[in-house]
Amino acid sequence: MGPKNVITAVAQGHTAAVSIDLFCSEKDLHDRPSPLTNLIHQKMGIHEWMYDSAVAPDLRFKVPHAEKAKSLKDRLMEVELGFDVETAFKEAERCLNCDVQTVFATDRCIECDACVDICPTACITFTENGKEDELRTRLTASANELNQDLYVSDELKTKRVMVKDENVCLHCGLCAERCPTAAWDMQKYLYNTAKAGGKVYA
Ligand code: SF4
Ligand code: SF4
Repeated sequence: MGPKNVITAVAQGHTAAVSIDLFCSEKDLHDRPSPLTNLIHQKMGIHEWMYDSAVAPDLRFKVPHAEKAKSLKDRLMEVELGFDVETAFKEAERCLNCDVQTVFATDRCIECDACVDICPTACITFTENGKEDELRTRLTASANELNQDLYVSDELKTKRVMVKDENVCLHCGLCAERCPTAAWDMQKYLYNTAKAGGKVYA
């Protein structure tokens, strides 16, 4: 029937994501999180986030549609036909790992710039701090998406700060893999479900 409005589409996206996670974890699809659910983050072991971090240059694969001549005549007809298995695998390889975030520890950084060198999108810049408007103009990859906050660290030993434009970060984990002091860390965000009795379980 197609989406009803944005809120319904987002809710359906959440529902689908929960189902996919349960299915991939070989758990019961009917075991849904309660409505009182929050996201928490969890430190990951190095082998957990050293996933296939190759950056796929592929553009988004388009979902095949039913013939317009047929779908325009029948408004109840499913228009999006879904990917075949091969294309679905290719599309999944473009995964942006949205549940895994880069977390920066200022006190561990020795400002060696190794993360700057390895980052495929040039989204890490070490520079003097400044007002946001002006700071945005000094980043290696210009941060033009004003609705997306910048990630600005505390002051480093050289009085500079680390600035990361979250808008272009691929969550590939290469910065954390390269960093000699583990100043970059990949942390996974999980559902935290409130249960009866006031206790909270992950
Ligand atoms: S996780 Fe983000 S910041 Fe780190 S190397 Fe990949 S794109 Fe760059
Ligand atoms: S690789 Fe690690 S230590 Fe080196 S500049 Fe980046 S965060 Fe700092």
